[in-house]
Amino acid sequence: MESERQIVFISGASRGIGAAIARCLAGAGFDIWLNYHTSQDSAEALKAEIEEKGRCCTLLPFDVTDEKAAHDALEPMLSTNVPFGFVHNVGITRDTLLPMMRRDEWDAVIDVHLTSFFILARLFSKVMISKRRGRIISIASVSCGTGQAGQTNYAAAKAGLIGASKSLARELARRNILVNVVSPGLIDTDMIKDLPLDKIMPLIPMNRIGTVEEVAGVVRFLLSKDADYITGQVISVNGGLYM
Ligand code: NAP
Repeated sequence: MESERQIVFISGASRGIGAAIARCLAGAGFDIWLNYHTSQDSAEALKAEIEEKGRCCTLLPFDVTDEKAAHDALEPMLSTNVPFGFVHNVGITRDTLLPMMRRDEWDAVIDVHLTSFFILARLFSKVMISKRRGRIISIASVSCGTGQAGQTNYAAAKAGLIGASKSLARELARRNILVNVVSPGLIDTDMIKDLPLDKIMPLIPMNRIGTVEEVAGVVRFLLSKDADYITGQVISVNGGLYM
């Protein structure tokens, strides 16, 4: 990796796909700014693992929906370093059918996925513009392409993330800042542990769920020189679940 491409900030990276992205990017030579909210033990273990590989890992625990907390954590860091990449991975689900959905379940999902993108992408794009380089990658979901019963909040948030990313890609392309989306299908993390996989599996043409490493590898590609002419795109990693 080129030396000026050295830092990537990842939101929600203490577990699951975000942790795999952190491992993968550290393996590719990036230093990691690692955000999480509550899972301190796993974040600290991941930091130690990354540092064993000879990369730096800075833990930045804050709730991504808290604009003041995000600014307080990031602004001092951004005054001395401008990350090459911002990977917006953070996510939660509050699944229930819409007639039963409470307002707080709707708001929590929209805020964690989408409002936090506004908060974080605004911070990172400002400093990336000053350097005229950067990559912003969001993690969406197959749910916003297919729709998913019980996930009106989640699908709406992820569809919003795609629309926001495509618009931001147009705003930033001339500044050499590329904005793309990776859209996973079912991936083996805590997020899907309560789903009826036996019922879902026959719907997946490849007949298996994906691994966190299979998503992380696509993020690494989008941060590489090989992706220098790719912006405003959505790349699916879903075993053919949605074509
Ligand atoms: P996960 O295992 O549940 O991990 C979620 C991560 O987000 C954790 O590190 C968690 O940190 C963090 N987080 C949650 N709320 C936060 C907040 N308010 N502020 C900061 N961090 C917060 O989820 P995953 O399966 O890896 O999902 C990662 C992304 O992929 C999400 O955007 C998800 O929607 C998307 N996705 C997942 C799948 C799938 O099948 N797994 C499919 C499609 C898309 P703490 O534990 O520290 O709170």
